Amino acid sequence: MPQDAGDLPALAEAEPVARLGPPGFDPGRVRFDSCERQFESVAKRWRQQYFRNGRWGGTIYGSADETYAKIRECKTVADLYALGLKNWVSERCALCGSEPDAWLEVGDEPDYEARWLTICLPCAEHLGAIATEARRAATTEIGAVHEGAGPKDIAQ
Ligand SMILES: [Zn+2]
Repeated sequence: MPQDAGDLPALAEAEPVARLGPPGFDPGRVRFDSCERQFESVAKRWRQQYFRNGRWGGTIYGSADETYAKIRECKTVADLYALGLKNWVSERCALCGSEPDAWLEVGDEPDYEARWLTICLPCAEHLGAIATEARRAATTEIGAVHEGAGPKDIAQ
């Protein structure tokens, strides 16, 4: 069950997964997140969104305070889906368009005007393989330039 707002840690709690990296690499810019993690904070986020200045506002989902009570009764992510609130705990992969159970966020902390990408774990694994191939190709090309091959003549 999602906890009440007062019991939860700060929202910016997604832990970086890439703790190692080259100099200048900020591991805080790669974060793991999941439906389950989002589920833990959904009651808090709902309250932050719809309870302002001591009163509940309206929502497209109906009465915000009644929905808040229903959210707090949810025991699973599926319960939340049944309330029509799937978008409060899910993301879409920027590469394949799937709605994964777990994903990486790469870039700024999500916020107004922030820039980040949501990438599902299979796509992230594919990117790793592509990066390995690209590094190999770049190393070969750079090596050729250093051996005097130079830029290709575009007239050829
Ligand atoms: Zn994907």
